[in-house]
Amino acid sequence: MLYQRSSALFIEAEKVIPGGVNSPVRAFKSVGGTPIFAKSAKGAYVYDEDGNRYIDYINSWGPMLLGHAYEPVVDAVVEKVKQGTSFGMPTEIETKIAGLAVSMVPNVDKIRFVNSGTEACMSAVRLARGYTGKEKIIKFAGCYHGHSDAFLIEAGSGAVTFGSPNSPGVTKGTAKDTLLAVYNDIDNVSALINANKGEIACVIIEPVAGNMGCIPPKNDFLKQLRNLCDEHDILLVFDEVMTGFRLAKGGAQELYRINADIICFGKVIGGGLPVGAFAARNEIMNHLAPLGSVYQAGTLSGNPLAMAAGLAMLTSINNDNDLFDRLAEKTAYLHKGCAEALNTYNVVHTINRKGSMISIHFAKDEVVDFDSAAKGNNATFKSFFHGMLNEGIYIAPSAFETWFITDALTYEDLDETIRAVERIAQTL
Ligand SMILES: *Cc1c(COP(=O)(O)O)cnc(C)c1O
Repeated sequence: MLYQRSSALFIEAEKVIPGGVNSPVRAFKSVGGTPIFAKSAKGAYVYDEDGNRYIDYINSWGPMLLGHAYEPVVDAVVEKVKQGTSFGMPTEIETKIAGLAVSMVPNVDKIRFVNSGTEACMSAVRLARGYTGKEKIIKFAGCYHGHSDAFLIEAGSGAVTFGSPNSPGVTKGTAKDTLLAVYNDIDNVSALINANKGEIACVIIEPVAGNMGCIPPKNDFLKQLRNLCDEHDILLVFDEVMTGFRLAKGGAQELYRINADIICFGKVIGGGLPVGAFAARNEIMNHLAPLGSVYQAGTLSGNPLAMAAGLAMLTSINNDNDLFDRLAEKTAYLHKGCAEALNTYNVVHTINRKGSMISIHFAKDEVVDFDSAAKGNNATFKSFFHGMLNEGIYIAPSAFETWFITDALTYEDLDETIRAVERIAQTL
């Protein structure tokens, strides 16, 4: 494939945008090479500036559950834009999408809309702290909750007591309030809680991890976490920015039949426009300004275009009772085909899958947490990634990401993908 125009555009971009991108993982830093510049997309396909077509497995990192330029979303936005793009006053559509979201998601009475998943998680933690009057939080190594300071933390030398900043600019003071736990290891969480008794406001988790590749929770892990939180008066925060409206109408809470206390949303809830949200029961949510004293605000929050896109998206999802079965079947089909292709050529791998999330880890052993994900062979991943790109298949340019399956993918698309995996497997 030719990438001439993408390469030229990247050179221009680098002059005026740090690294040429507005979000780091777009830069191909971990796989090498030059990023592809997107020009347009429709359904299962994205087209680049050189006219190449790709079967898209990133889908804007999740939002496009029903495919690109999904007509009901496009129509809703086009209709709305003619009426003005922002007012800084309440609008009816905010109540409509809030009502629909609250009816779909278990255990929530109210929802507040923001502009990104980062904002949702940041605000959820503030609310948890304000509500409980406690300051420390527990997060899991390898889970991503956006780029706010409290989450840019890695395990420190005294991992059982506190974390360290993993980005310059994050203060030690902030880091000491974030404790790092091991995903799928309930004894580790329990030890952290016991070492910090009475000080922990919330445990925040991706109920199915997608930011260290796809890692589902082990059998009773979420249930055990729920019990631990109840025992110690700690709020359980599900970061469903990726899983919300993707794994089921009610997200991971519905799928695993576990209620969280605060739930964060992003990605799908905005139908491809910049939207995040967080939701909880009245008892918690009423602590938020202007009802309560926990402050949170946004000039463009609940923006009418974003709400129109989100409402159209959620309405389509809510009205389609077969959607999640179809998505899971397509993902299972892809899983089987890829596994067979890789096994035929003895490529060491482990595939994790849940619903419409799937990743190929080039690792020998089970991948259950950050450490086991990090054991994957990155050199193999790089070759695989570039092989796929060259075959016209766009997956995330990092081994630590899930693939996002959309309803727009046909079985022909999946077969084409599997045949590509087979050809690439021969070269790995
Ligand atoms: C993408 C993501 C975020 C951050 O959302 P942004 O909209 O990129 O700020 C937070 N949590 C999870 C689980 C995510 O996947």
